[in-house]
Amino acid sequence: MAVPLRTCVACRRSTVKRELIRLVVARDSVQPDPSGSHPGRGAYVCGLARCIDIALKRDGAVIRRALRLGCQHVTLDTRRLGSQLGEMGDAQEQRRETSTSASLLGEIPGRAATRE
Ligand SMILES: [Zn+2]
Repeated sequence: MAVPLRTCVACRRSTVKRELIRLVVARDSVQPDPSGSHPGRGAYVCGLARCIDIALKRDGAVIRRALRLGCQHVTLDTRRLGSQLGEMGDAQEQRRETSTSASLLGEIPGRAATRE
């Protein structure tokens, strides 16, 4: 089964959904959707600080375009989103490190088994 890819609105890198943070319009404002299950159009951004910066530039112009907000009355609080996305990006980075060390640990019993 093909893994669905999503594109970061800032760097245009395509990657698996879980590596990106989803943004949606909820209650007339743009908000992060950590569960990734909120209905409606989503915009995706990497958890990287430079991508978050680009995404929020000019009052979040690239996010507005990705969500096709046009002239709809939707609040995009760049300062609040910036701190939320920053925290989520950090958490994502930690998860990535945790899964790497978990897979390294997983190799040890396997290696021991082949030696027996
Ligand atoms: Zn990016």
